[in-house]
Amino acid sequence: MEKGKKFLSIISIFIIISYCLFGLLSNPIYAANQVISTDINAIDESAYPGFKERINALKNQFPNWNFKILYTDLDWNEVISEEYVGHGSNPRNQVQAISNYQGAWICPCGFEAGSWRCASEDAIKYMMDPRNSLNASDIFQFEELTNNGYDMNQIINMTNGTFLQGHHEEIVRSGNNTGISPYFIIARMLQEQGKGGTALTSGVYGYYNPFNIQANGADPISNGVAYAQSQGWDTLEKGITGGIEFLSREYTKRGQNTLYLQKFDVDGTYDGLYWHQYMQNIMAAQSEGTTLRKTYESINAVGDSHTFIIPLYRNMPQAACSRPNGNSNATVSGDLVKVNVNSTICLRSSPNGAKINALLYKDEIVTRIEKATTKVAGTYWDKIRKADGTEAYVARETYDYEAEYKLYLVPINENSLGNSGNGGNSGNASVGNETDNSDDKELISTQKVKVDKVNKTVTVGPDAIAKDIIDAFGSIKITKADGSFLEGEQSIIGTNYIIRDEYIIIKKGDVTGDGYVNSADLLGLQKHLLGITNIMNTTKGASADVTNDGNLNSADLLKIQKKLLGISDLNI
Ligand SMILES: [Zn+2]
Repeated sequence: MEKGKKFLSIISIFIIISYCLFGLLSNPIYAANQVISTDINAIDESAYPGFKERINALKNQFPNWNFKILYTDLDWNEVISEEYVGHGSNPRNQVQAISNYQGAWICPCGFEAGSWRCASEDAIKYMMDPRNSLNASDIFQFEELTNNGYDMNQIINMTNGTFLQGHHEEIVRSGNNTGISPYFIIARMLQEQGKGGTALTSGVYGYYNPFNIQANGADPISNGVAYAQSQGWDTLEKGITGGIEFLSREYTKRGQNTLYLQKFDVDGTYDGLYWHQYMQNIMAAQSEGTTLRKTYESINAVGDSHTFIIPLYRNMPQAACSRPNGNSNATVSGDLVKVNVNSTICLRSSPNGAKINALLYKDEIVTRIEKATTKVAGTYWDKIRKADGTEAYVARETYDYEAEYKLYLVPINENSLGNSGNGGNSGNASVGNETDNSDDKELISTQKVKVDKVNKTVTVGPDAIAKDIIDAFGSIKITKADGSFLEGEQSIIGTNYIIRDEYIIIKKGDVTGDGYVNSADLLGLQKHLLGITNIMNTTKGASADVTNDGNLNSADLLKIQKKLLGISDLNI
């Protein structure tokens, strides 16, 4: 990028000069002022809403990750309209009309090439909005593809059992010569050719083109062979080395040094914007990023040092652009759920079946395609589809035998998307150790908040709000009973809300758990006293025990009635 910045400053000067000479007649083609910053906290949230919190959440989860902010200085609406071109003949962004990529994903212009269609404006917005990919699953499309060192044993592991076996030496050598990450080089070739390789890697035509360069058009194999022949790539080694030099020359040395920037040309370092893209497939960056992530997973390197370049645009909407409805029947809306786990959760081939080689990540958003109605082995198994197309089963909630209930798949809406209540930054000390300090912080009772460390409960008064918890414990994660995050200091909290995934809230008098004390709570206690239900030894029972004597009886009923009449209050 250093070189790019110099180039840009020359361009800026040129533009300034041309303005002086031609005044308003000049038409600036280049982004005048693209800069890179590593200062996350300097991101202006009013100008770039939702970025800082997402990036900080990832940094908390993966302390070795580094982030660079690319201020594109481009207007979001201009970016979208520049990308939404080529209708009817050669769309700049195309989507494969399969499974859930139909309906609102497809532009009405009518373009068809096999299963490929013109991508709709909403699809472009959704895929280009970086906020939708600032999660552990989709982030790797932003990874800087610069060579920051490598472990030769990991490189050998990655190539073993693939068509690249035995070629680690030239991969690493070319990576060093060009400054491209050898991990990315391998991921790109495996993405293009599959593990076993194709006719372009087997030598059946006498030439090798492992990166599929110019392997497009009506007869991609012949065209790919012709290109390899023109370059003299008559061994796989030459194809690999030559392909890496091509990537370096055409992309990474031209500022397009992430998968996202290779797909979406919003980096103005090379001959302007919006034209120099590696692929038309709108999913390309995300899907290849997934390959990269899976590669790191296979060698246990996800949590290692990675650097991500996140592009920011001016005038983005307040909330992240939503996923187009992929159902061809427009009246049925997609059932989107957010993954509510601390790190990851396993995917399975069937309800309670074998684990497959894929995970769901904290805060990842997936489509639920089947909602289970019966339990198998103690929980519900919903079928989901990840953004990369993987379909599998996952536990919707905790198993019956587990003491604390937790919903893993939380239906999302606008309010639960921005989980600002999930910061947990309070304990970030300067020691820089590997544990998340906020999780180790001891919760101490105050006048308004009573902590029970044995039973892992926090008891609060009938009028408690989120601020009372924050005043006592600092910025801390509060989850509603349905698993979604609680936002806002003035929000009502209720019985069975959860603090830091660990402590359950007992709100005195709030037997129903809706956060309020009213006649429904009286009814809840009456039902217990009449033997219709049994809430003894539950958090609901604890909230109904307003006399704090360990029993549930008519004295509690009377005391709640007095609270409702405003005669007396309830104490913790
Ligand atoms: Zn179109």
